[in-house]
Amino acid sequence: RRDFINTNALNYVSECILSGWVSSAGKFVNQFEDSICRYTGSKYAIAVSNGTVALRLALLIIGVKREEEVILPPLSFVATANAISHLGAIPHFVDIEKERLGLCPLSLENRLKEIAILKEDKIYNKFTGRRIAAIVPVHVFGIPSKIIEIKKISEKWNIPLVEDAAEALGSWETFEDKFKHCGLFGDVSTISFNGNKIISTGGGGMLITNNPDIEKKARHLSTTAKVNHPWEF
Ligand SMILES: *Cc1c(COP(=O)(O)O)cnc(C)c1O
Repeated sequence: RRDFINTNALNYVSECILSGWVSSAGKFVNQFEDSICRYTGSKYAIAVSNGTVALRLALLIIGVKREEEVILPPLSFVATANAISHLGAIPHFVDIEKERLGLCPLSLENRLKEIAILKEDKIYNKFTGRRIAAIVPVHVFGIPSKIIEIKKISEKWNIPLVEDAAEALGSWETFEDKFKHCGLFGDVSTISFNGNKIISTGGGGMLITNNPDIEKKARHLSTTAKVNHPWEF
């Protein structure tokens, strides 16, 4: 109760219920997405049911498939690894650094040098034979990980970057003399609005991205993937 005192939460909930539009078709979800865009500076925001689903969807869209590996740090909430597992992919842990407790750029670079092999434009782990499909740094406790260095490595190796920004709403990294919100360095990133997060919707999550193709796919897949057809339903 304390968390919602001095907010408009109760007014919004009663407005929502009185309007009858209690599903995602109501105006509040769109308003929430717009607010997150304005606040973070993201071009697009797509609300989903929780942070785990957001991360799973982000990974699916950037092309993670069954039996592929996704690099993540071992210090995170278990949901990061769960989202990878939910796709049938395999979590591949690389250590954290001690200043910000995020994925360590040096360990990442060293690991890739040790295991990576290039085959037809794609990076494989030569010891397991599996493709390395994505890198997922986590901004733990809202502390930005060393995302600028991590991004450089992901670009150098041509591995997609998805930031787990579940805990990092309101966290900014300096980039080219400006502040850039966590989650806007990767191809697509995710936020959580669970009860223990910066702000809460009870349960909820969001993808943020500046990429219109990713936005389209996320919107399509998060709303039952319905395609136009002579029969409306
Ligand atoms: C909370 C959290 C998630 C998952 O979000 P849910 O909304 O609880 O599914 C994912 N990653 C991290 C780092 C988190 O803290």
